[in-house]
Amino acid sequence: MNLLWAFRLTMLSLLVCAVALTQVQPPWEAGKPRWYKGNLHTHTVNSDGDSTPTEVATWYREHGYQFLALTDHNYKTDVVALNAIHGAREKFLIIPAEELTDQYLKRPIHINAINLETEVQAQHGDSVAATIQRDVDIIRAAKGLPSVNHPNFHWAITAKDMMGIKGLKLFEVFNGHPTVNNNGGGGSASLDQMWDELLTGGQRLYGIGVDDAHVFKKTGQEFSNPGRGWVVVRAKSLTPAAITEALENGDFYSSSGVNLLDVQTSGVEYKIEINARAMEKFTTTFIGEGGKVLATSFDTIPVYKFSGNEKYVRARVDSSFGLSAWTQPVFRR
Ligand SMILES: [Zn+2]
Ligand SMILES: [Zn+2]
Repeated sequence: MNLLWAFRLTMLSLLVCAVALTQVQPPWEAGKPRWYKGNLHTHTVNSDGDSTPTEVATWYREHGYQFLALTDHNYKTDVVALNAIHGAREKFLIIPAEELTDQYLKRPIHINAINLETEVQAQHGDSVAATIQRDVDIIRAAKGLPSVNHPNFHWAITAKDMMGIKGLKLFEVFNGHPTVNNNGGGGSASLDQMWDELLTGGQRLYGIGVDDAHVFKKTGQEFSNPGRGWVVVRAKSLTPAAITEALENGDFYSSSGVNLLDVQTSGVEYKIEINARAMEKFTTTFIGEGGKVLATSFDTIPVYKFSGNEKYVRARVDSSFGLSAWTQPVFRR
């Protein structure tokens, strides 16, 4: 190869690189909010998981997630070294967290603490509600964002127990663990029904979807495997502060497999854009006070026009594939 050709090839490869760079350069950089996918509930060998923190982080990083909270039982994993390995800037973030693991009369009361500064321990209380409140308070004191986990696990927590809890903005409306009874039954409320009871009662709560993964080394419906529930958060940057701020403000959606392109609310409407796969059909239900169905749509861009009388409006998108997404309530009065 002569020098001229070597020069031409170098210029060509530089041009290709430049084109590739402009193509992967996201348009939302420069401080504009963008969507980040993450899982807020996962275990490692630091409690009852089967894999090390770095194995768990690797699984999520390699499966298209941008952030992860490692939530071991009463144990806050140090994420500094992990982030140095996995978290090349703006690519993958591990948020410090812990699953505060408490109980009241053998009813498991598990509260996730997301982005907390110091490890906290179960505070106990003289009722389910008092236990939740005391645990939420200690998490807030440690600058963490509390979330009530899997309320129907052992049928431990009802909507009444969560009503009136101060400092609580999040609960799990979907948990991928096989024994957590997301759908209720036998006379017990589903997590969707609980959510509406709470919102109707004036508790401003957002619903997260999580894995609660423990098992990475074998796969099956009976195992709490990863990849079943997640949140997609609209944040200004991939930092613990920006992600937790968006969660606190309800600027995210939750999923057990339905992908959305966008969620927009204005003074007049609530609009969702669904990212449909081949042959996938959808039913979107807009839900208001008392769990009442306000509207139903089969569109891939369902839109609900506010009537002006709603207390709140949220939506659930159910796919023909047996998967769902939950968008957050907007409070109208
Ligand atoms: Zn738990
Ligand atoms: Zn857990």
